[in-house]
Amino acid sequence: MVAVLLGWNPGAGTTWPEYSRVVDELAAAGVHRRPWRILNSASVLPGADAWLLLVGKAGRGLIGHGVTASHPYRPAREEQTGASGTVIDVDFDALLPVGDQIPVDFLLERAPRAGWNTVKAAGRRIPEEEERAVRAIWAERLPADGIDPILPVPGTAPQDALTRVGMNRYERSPQARRICLAHHGTSCAACGFSFEAVYGPEGEGFIHVHHLTPVSQLGPGYELDPIGDLVPLCPNCHYMAHRRPVPYTPAELRAMMSGAGHIAGSVLSPQELEAQAAAQRILDSR
Ligand SMILES: [Zn+2]
Ligand SMILES: [Zn+2]
Repeated sequence: MVAVLLGWNPGAGTTWPEYSRVVDELAAAGVHRRPWRILNSASVLPGADAWLLLVGKAGRGLIGHGVTASHPYRPAREEQTGASGTVIDVDFDALLPVGDQIPVDFLLERAPRAGWNTVKAAGRRIPEEEERAVRAIWAERLPADGIDPILPVPGTAPQDALTRVGMNRYERSPQARRICLAHHGTSCAACGFSFEAVYGPEGEGFIHVHHLTPVSQLGPGYELDPIGDLVPLCPNCHYMAHRRPVPYTPAELRAMMSGAGHIAGSVLSPQELEAQAAAQRILDSR
C-alpha cells in the first residue's frame, strides 16, 4: 500500500475557502472530491491513502483522510481552481474542523519518520512501516460512526481491506435523522424492535434511518421531507429492505414477517411453530 501526506496551509498557496462548509457536508455526503497539486515525479496510483496535514498559523497537525481517485493529470486551463501543474483527485472521506487537528508532537512519538515537520503542499510518501501507526492514531482520535458502528471510521483500515457501503446520503444526514426520529420515534417501523428496550441505556437512540424512495427515482429538484421520506428501521429490517433494488416498504416487510410466522417482539418456540403448521394443514384440507 502507498500512503501520501499532503500539506495544507490555509494562509498560503492552496487555499480552501469553503473548508468549514465542506466539513459539515462531509458528515452527510460521505465523500468530497478535490483535485490536489502534487509533484510531477510523484508516482501515486488511485486507491492510495491520502493524509491531510494542516500547516501554518492554526497549528501543525493531522486533519483529514482521503483516498486518491485518479492518476496524476494536468487539468484543463478552465478547470484550474486553486490547483495548477500536475494534480491528482482525492476523495476526502474524513475531515476535522480546524482546531481539532492531531498535534505533530503526538504524531512524532508514534510515527517519527513520516516527515510531519517538513512536508510541503505537494506531498510526500509516508514510510510503509509507519502507515499502521498513522491509522492507529487516527482511529483513537476519531469517534465511531454513530449511525453504523460496524463501518470502520475512514482512514482506520487499509484501503484494500475495504468495500464502500452505499447508504444514500439522506440516510446519513444528521439533521434529517434528528427530525425523522423526533417524529417517528426510535423503534423499527417494520418489526417494532427497540434497541433501548432490549439493550438498555447503551442502546438508547440507536436505529438506522431508511429513505423510502430509491435514489435512482429522485428528480433533479428533489428536496428531502425527513418525516414523509424517512423511517426508522432496525439494521436487520434495513438490510432486508435493500435486498431489492426498489426497497421493500415497511408494510411489505411486516407482511413478509407475518407470512413467515413471526410475531413482533416474540420468538416462536418449536411447539408453537408445529401448532401453526397443524392449523394451516387443517385450514388447507377444508
Ligand atoms: Zn426491524
Ligand atoms: Zn435504506
